[in-house]
Amino acid sequence: MRLRDLKGIGDKRWESLKKAGIGDLQALIATLPVSYRDTTQSVPLDSLREDATCCVTGTLRSAASLTRSGTLSIVRCVLEDASGILRLVWFNQPWRVGLLRAGTEYAFFGRVERYAGALSMVNPSLVQERAILPVYRALPGLPSGTLLSLIRQALAVSDIRETLPASLRDRYRLCGRSTALQQVHCPTDTASLQEARRRIAFENLLLYHMATLLLHREGRCGILIQESVSDYLRQLPFKPTEAQRRAIRDIEADFCSGRPMRRLLQGDVGSGKTAVVFAAAFLAARAGYQTALMAPTEILARQHLRSAERLLGPLGVKSGLLLGSMPETHRRDALQRIREGDWQLVIGTQALIGRGLHFSRLALAVVDEQHRFGVRQRRTLGEKVSKDLTSHVLALSATPIPRTLALVLYGDLDVSALDELPPGRKQVRTHLVPEHKRSALYAFIRDRVEAGEQAYIVCPRILDQAEDDARGVIGMYRQLAKGPLSGLKLGLAHGGQPSREMEAALLGFTRKETDVLIATSVIEVGIDVPSASVMVIEGANAFGLSQLHQLRGRVGRGDRESWCFLMAGESERLAALCQSTDGFELSRKDLELRGPGEFLGARQHGKSFPSGFGVEDIALLEETLSCAKEMFRETAQADELAVIQRLAESRYAEMMENTALN
Ligand code: ADP
Ligand code: MG
Repeated sequence: MRLRDLKGIGDKRWESLKKAGIGDLQALIATLPVSYRDTTQSVPLDSLREDATCCVTGTLRSAASLTRSGTLSIVRCVLEDASGILRLVWFNQPWRVGLLRAGTEYAFFGRVERYAGALSMVNPSLVQERAILPVYRALPGLPSGTLLSLIRQALAVSDIRETLPASLRDRYRLCGRSTALQQVHCPTDTASLQEARRRIAFENLLLYHMATLLLHREGRCGILIQESVSDYLRQLPFKPTEAQRRAIRDIEADFCSGRPMRRLLQGDVGSGKTAVVFAAAFLAARAGYQTALMAPTEILARQHLRSAERLLGPLGVKSGLLLGSMPETHRRDALQRIREGDWQLVIGTQALIGRGLHFSRLALAVVDEQHRFGVRQRRTLGEKVSKDLTSHVLALSATPIPRTLALVLYGDLDVSALDELPPGRKQVRTHLVPEHKRSALYAFIRDRVEAGEQAYIVCPRILDQAEDDARGVIGMYRQLAKGPLSGLKLGLAHGGQPSREMEAALLGFTRKETDVLIATSVIEVGIDVPSASVMVIEGANAFGLSQLHQLRGRVGRGDRESWCFLMAGESERLAALCQSTDGFELSRKDLELRGPGEFLGARQHGKSFPSGFGVEDIALLEETLSCAKEMFRETAQADELAVIQRLAESRYAEMMENTALN
């Protein structure tokens, strides 16, 4: 039987399936649910959490009420169980009121939200039959329920082939693929469903890890660089931290290995990544090669050039800039110097991967703030090299991610961590500020401005959103200008402005023409104002921990005392930020609290991450990674390796082709 022949598939649905990449029965069966509607178990009302989607059971305390305002109707009632109560609210479903009887027991399924100050379920559905139902991502013309019925037909008429060797399934206690897919689409109970999901996730992740390990093994040659870094270290104006020394040693080892370096250097803002990069550029220059350093903004590129002239200039290493905004004559001159090898360190923005650029002898490509660039951009930079040799690549990141996830995200990248700040750095004092202390906060800002300092106020979005306490940046600016901060010079910067206007606002703040900059998170990167000592983050709950940490890194850049104020109520997540200034620890905490799925989702990494289950399960990520590595090591597992390798190559063919650096 073919997909086309299933009951209920007409031309439109057939097209819709094809568009979604579902061309046959096997592909349909491999379409996994995005979630489950589990009404077999009810959550006690006193242990409900905001944002949970779940089933609750209880008795209606009193009859439901119906109110109308304009065209809106609202039905309200209160559900009660042995542990507590829960408010239920329906909008524009007035007919509900007649179906809900006081004193009767009901089960509802829905999402727990905060409505009018209290935990409530908004528009829950009434549970008629207790079951675990898969929910699929709807396709045009194919809602979840229709997909379910098609998949069930497909399961009934298809043979499902086993993919994983029996020995591997035994060792890791994995159920068969056929059982797993049956359970995933037609779950019988929670425990069996869990086992099925684990099996499918295991396969997904194992193949993914295998694909990245295979990439790493590919026999490409790296440029040999066997120079000594001691001259460079000797003339550094400061004593390198132990972490910097370690990272430099890692790079030296890569340079001598005969294989192209693929290394991620992560470290908090201010941990001294630049000094490590320049050590690498120095080694390359001594060996007669060039280094390209790509920064996300022109401001940062210029900053790097100044440091290079200071740290590398005296050692005879010549550096130059290539920027998109350069006048044509400068550009032509720069291109010539790059082509003729006059500059050993070329610093630039994305202009570095533009056309018409030829290096004389490129050996090392460095990408600063690598998460700002897409995979293709990074790759193109790495490719600017001769035919048979692959250049070394060093990617820098100030938002550390835990090691396992780094491996998952960047595949074959090795990781060096600068987990130590140079001595003498002042810590930014971080506090949670409840709403009633807002006016005291504004008074504090006035004091700091009086003392010659500056402040940032960051809002999570551009426009006001009704019924929400976190204000939009435009509304905030207007309000502060009128009242609490009137008389101070205020600047406004957000992504909704024409870029000229935004840059002018940033520049004005840098030049101290404004005292307080009210902005969205556009200030996260590339702005360095030593006299800014106060960072206020409105609606702090809307940001991830790592991003908050990054924003906080905008202050405390001079030698003054500095503060970060988080506008939010009590929260475990934000409390972690108040207690720690260690980006690694915070990112671990972030991961723990949000789970890998959301953690990675928040980063736009543009990477073909394995879809389906498993990404949310850090233990499984680790287990599958060590399984893949073991297969490589153990000759006894050669048969397994052959099978898994073949599967990985076909499943991740595209990734293997397109991923050079990543
Ligand atoms: P980031 O990791 O954020 O890129 P930078 O490389 O810009 O950090 O370094 C931040 C500042 O710290 C620079 O002014 C740099 O000169 C200084 N610095 C770097 N390493 C050390 C060190 N070991 N001791 C003292 N100062 C250092
Ligand atoms: Mg930097």
